[in-house]
Amino acid sequence: MSRLFKRTKILATIGPSTNTKEMIEDIIMAGVNGCRLNCSHGSNEERDQQIKWIREAAAKKGRSVTILQDLQGPKIRLGMLKDNHLDLKKGDEVILESAEYEHDGGLTVPVQYNLAEKVKVGEPLSMFDGKVKANITEIVSDTAIKAEILNDGFIMSKKGINLPDTDFGGDILTEKDRADIEYGANCDYDYVSLSFVQSVNDILKLKQLLLSYGSQAKVIAKIETKKAISSEQNLEAIVKAADGIMVARGDMAVEAGAEVVPIVQRKLVALCRKHAKLCIVATQMLSSMVENPEPTRAEVSDVATAVLQGADAVMLSDETANGKYPLETVKEMKKVILYTQNHSRLAPIKESPSDEFGIYGAISNATARLAEEICADVIICQTASGDTATAIAAERPNLPIVTVTSNQRVANQLALIYANSAFCRPYSEDFGFDLAKELKASGYLQTKEGLKDLLVVIVSGDKNKAGTDTIKVRNV
Ligand code: ATP
Ligand code: MG
Ligand code: MG
Repeated sequence: MSRLFKRTKILATIGPSTNTKEMIEDIIMAGVNGCRLNCSHGSNEERDQQIKWIREAAAKKGRSVTILQDLQGPKIRLGMLKDNHLDLKKGDEVILESAEYEHDGGLTVPVQYNLAEKVKVGEPLSMFDGKVKANITEIVSDTAIKAEILNDGFIMSKKGINLPDTDFGGDILTEKDRADIEYGANCDYDYVSLSFVQSVNDILKLKQLLLSYGSQAKVIAKIETKKAISSEQNLEAIVKAADGIMVARGDMAVEAGAEVVPIVQRKLVALCRKHAKLCIVATQMLSSMVENPEPTRAEVSDVATAVLQGADAVMLSDETANGKYPLETVKEMKKVILYTQNHSRLAPIKESPSDEFGIYGAISNATARLAEEICADVIICQTASGDTATAIAAERPNLPIVTVTSNQRVANQLALIYANSAFCRPYSEDFGFDLAKELKASGYLQTKEGLKDLLVVIVSGDKNKAGTDTIKVRNV
């Protein structure tokens, strides 16, 4: 194949830096496969508009794009600060108060949560992704606490507050999350992700709620709490219950210590590959590009590491939400992904992914091996639910997977899955073969140097029978 396909996908957070029709179109044209809309910021009206722009850009490009609704979960945030900024010095005593009032620029600061009900004196507290650390020194009233600042720094409106040692207990879905789920169920979302997941129950509750509102969105667990990573069993159970996970490295570092993050990341990518689940590596991947047009060596290496581990997708947060160079960041990320994948091979995972998937797991495994062995140009996958495409991708074959489905939602969801280019076409028995012909004619699929035909492996099933059961090798 002379054309280079990006097998590791890019998920970009939409925010003030990308909040126009033109910017959204530009970043999608530049290689963004999915957009993350964060319910922590912005309004429903803004998100409705962004969804419209994303769908228009995807249609213009002729490619499926994922839209992810990110639920805030039990994240505690600062309120609005005067001029969006407050400098703090070591030794300052800050009052954090949950009452409704306007910040006057002083050391009494609004918080969107009543901390006085939960915290104890002596517990640590940090703000702005751990940039400012403090120690709780007093419960001042029913709605206010006092904390002593331990380092110089500054905070901004709506930045997060972490309380790694505070016990919250119980249900993690907040009133706001429930309202966002209900509203989002009627929006064009492909995935819903939940922040601060602690156990399988959190995922099951979210799935139940989505079902009750008739949503077809799949569920992603953001892994960032001490509790979620407390045991291998808990972590694996969460992976199995969800449709995918996000390695949410920002809050994970604050909650559990930055040193645990690389090991948890490696474990999670391996677990997702084993169970054929979507794996997104997130936070600070090209962080310095928020301010600078070029990344650091360490950041480039971080993106490459996620590619080499076999993550499905790498995510941009502040870089595209808030940064000065959103488009340059996307282009840089794509460059690193392409170079890395074209100069390396992914190590196969030790445990066979197919044991729990029975026949269709074995077929997926055989498809990937066969395609590599005969040096096929592309795997064509006909799928109704997307499961077969995901299972083949879990084998991390070294060639593109073109998936065809009659369900646009499924095509959108597959846009974030490793190596998948998903197309929606009306169902017919041979719609995979037909699509291969179409993509060859359009130049999207190109034959090897000096050859007339494409060599394709087509995997399909009979809609009315047991599902995927046929592998064919064809010249197109
Ligand atoms: P999370 O912990 O879920 O990642 P976050 O607060 O870090 O939440 P991101 O979505 O990662 O938020 O975005 C990074 C920053 O970009 C935010 O902290 C915020 O300052 C800004 N931002 C993102 N989306 C918006 C928006 N819609 N409106 C205003 N600011 C936004
Ligand atoms: Mg987070
Ligand atoms: Mg973030």
